[in-house]
Amino acid sequence: MMRIGAHMSAAGGLFKAFKRADEAGCESMLVFTKSNRQWKAKPITDKDVEKYRQEAEKYSHIQPVAVHASYLINLASPDDALWEKSYLALRDEVERAAAFDIPYITFHPGSFMKSDVESGLERIARGLQRLVGETAVTASNTTICIETMAGQGTNLGAAFDHLAYLLEHGGPSERLGVCFDTCHVFAGGYDFRTPAGYADTMAEFDRVVGLDNIKCFHFNDSKFGLGERKDRHAHIGQGEIGREAFANFLNDPRWANHPAHLETPKKEEDADGNELELDPITINTLTAFRKSTQSLSTSISLHTSIWHPMPLIVSALYCCQFPTFGARKAKFH
Ligand SMILES: [Zn+2]
Ligand SMILES: [Zn+2]
Repeated sequence: MMRIGAHMSAAGGLFKAFKRADEAGCESMLVFTKSNRQWKAKPITDKDVEKYRQEAEKYSHIQPVAVHASYLINLASPDDALWEKSYLALRDEVERAAAFDIPYITFHPGSFMKSDVESGLERIARGLQRLVGETAVTASNTTICIETMAGQGTNLGAAFDHLAYLLEHGGPSERLGVCFDTCHVFAGGYDFRTPAGYADTMAEFDRVVGLDNIKCFHFNDSKFGLGERKDRHAHIGQGEIGREAFANFLNDPRWANHPAHLETPKKEEDADGNELELDPITINTLTAFRKSTQSLSTSISLHTSIWHPMPLIVSALYCCQFPTFGARKAKFH
């Protein structure tokens, strides 16, 4: 059963994220261990680790924890100085996660800028190989997850074959995995909105990458349409993906104990100007999907008639715009 959670603020110390996650109804959580928009990080002290351990024990129902690495890191960069800076920052992030005994760290594979797809992928793979080697002792229990990307600009990691290449050439290593971001995969052109589309997408992922490599999920709806390659998260049910698609994931018995984290805005004003906390509402909705699945224990086609159906207009607008998987010809996209 997937473990539903959200990104939680670590303001005031990473240990404080547990209480926030608990209040939001999380079963697991996603955190930054440092500012995600800065290169520098305050070193972790023994006291930081001790406080974190105490809270992890107190809130032991919130697990697993996953870390998101800094957005500045670009291992695909053709610039040697930026590449090295990115590599050292990512290694530091992996070791920071390991210091807290956090099992997963997710990073964005990067943008190839003025080079090309093949060179970018090769540089990321080189970084991963070095990373797996250099953290073999310091972070042996931390899995490094490559996030699926939307393919915006020169971003790599939107096509499943990019992920396959990175797992193969960045390792092979049991410490490498994939973080499946629903907004990004959808924006990258894979349509999993219906049970049939979901089955096709997962079969394609399995054929190209291998489903065993998926270690965690980011649950976001998408402001933009299928295959538009734009990375803009929307609240679940308020984007082009729609709520029904998330039921497909939550009903899939292959995702046993895989964390699924929301990365959407936390607050919204209601019609009366009151501030609403959104994570608890979304987590409740997702949990309800799952519970009804358990009690029904029947096929997804039955559920689709119970759950809010996707507006048909969305599929009518977007289903023809993207080539089918079989139509992919070039080596990388
Ligand atoms: Zn991300
Ligand atoms: Zn994400």
